Amino acid sequence: MSALVAEFTGELERLTRLATNCVDADGEGLAAVELAIRTAMMQLGCSLLERLLAVDPGHHGPRIVCGAGHAAQFVGYRVKIVDTVLGSVQLRRAWYHCAECGHGCSPRDDGLGVAGMSLSPGLRAMIARAATAVPFAKARELLADLAGVELTTKRVERAAEADGAAAEQAARAETAAILARRVVPLPPSPMPDKLYVAIDGTGVPMIPTETAGRTGKADDGRARTRETKLACVFTQTRLDDDGRPMRDDDSASHVATFDPAPEFGRLMAAEARRRGANHIRQLIVLGDGAPWIWNLANTWFPEATQIVDLYHAREHVHDIANLLAPTLGEDHQGWLAERLDELDNGDIETLVANCYAPLPPNGKAHFLDKTLPYFKTNAHRMRYNVYRELGMFVGSGTVEAGCKAIIGQRLKLSGMRWSIPGATSILTLRCHDASGRNDQIWQRPHNQITAA
Ligand SMILES: [Zn+2]
Repeated sequence: MSALVAEFTGELERLTRLATNCVDADGEGLAAVELAIRTAMMQLGCSLLERLLAVDPGHHGPRIVCGAGHAAQFVGYRVKIVDTVLGSVQLRRAWYHCAECGHGCSPRDDGLGVAGMSLSPGLRAMIARAATAVPFAKARELLADLAGVELTTKRVERAAEADGAAAEQAARAETAAILARRVVPLPPSPMPDKLYVAIDGTGVPMIPTETAGRTGKADDGRARTRETKLACVFTQTRLDDDGRPMRDDDSASHVATFDPAPEFGRLMAAEARRRGANHIRQLIVLGDGAPWIWNLANTWFPEATQIVDLYHAREHVHDIANLLAPTLGEDHQGWLAERLDELDNGDIETLVANCYAPLPPNGKAHFLDKTLPYFKTNAHRMRYNVYRELGMFVGSGTVEAGCKAIIGQRLKLSGMRWSIPGATSILTLRCHDASGRNDQIWQRPHNQITAA
């Protein structure tokens, strides 16, 4: 080992002398030299890594226990190529074969986290980071330009989707453990005053097989998208100088899935419990008027205060004003302002009564019949005057922004068409990223499960 380090140090000194001779005042010369040095260092590192890996060929005697509990026989030493952050290395390791399972295995591969795959864990983490942020082709470019690692777009896609799938499985396991109380999350410290669960849904464009037989809003009645449901969990402790609620810094975490509402509910509930829902003084569920959101809130957190997002409600008031525009004439703007004030004050009964007022006796009441039930059924979730007095958020701006950032900026870009598994993988990675939980994906040797 020390001989290797000495060799490495000597080589570095040689490169530094070389670089010093080459660099002139010209910035272009410097750019060429720094990249040349990086390439040389990577080659050097690669050979160092290869020799380090060769120290232990992973021979554990003539037979080992295979993953299924059988005896697997030593066959011999086999070489495989593993791509790492330093380049491709040859890995020579002991190979065992289980006659009962009918396939081979290598304890060395398991130990290194490369069983059944040709990318090192370090490189996979880099790929996942890049592909979480930008489309696969762009991720490939960034990895080549910034990290000096050349891969095909297809490999970037496969690796990121496999790791996203593993992260999703781990999230499901965590959800099950929390809901079954096998894992009991510790109370947050310091304890925030309020915990919000803001819930929303948005469509992600899909390949035709994922939407076959489903009806959608398009002219031909066919669905082009599948809905992903998203929850943003955040806390609030203080008010600003003007008495408005302030979200606690870095307190937002996100979960999302294409699964139906009941499954999403489990994911959402486990995340809220992980964040301290069982300990918090005031729990609040924020959403638009969609009934599934309130069903889940009633199921999982009956004690929570339910609030319809004020901005969604305002849009509905605008819609009503537009419907009534012919009757209102020049009064339109003034009438709208009065209704918005009533909404802001949580006086939904007056708002609803005043919406019928402009209608002539034989008026087109059925127009309103589509719009006003929203206010009637949600009136008890629209007491904005009370919520404000209690220092609560009345808008789900956080989750809206979350939807836009987490889903829109990566999954709904022009021309994109996803499969459910592919979209789920990237969505899971993006939720982890936005929740500051990237490190937890890579702490586990989860990428060994594909070997099973
Ligand atoms: Zn076996």
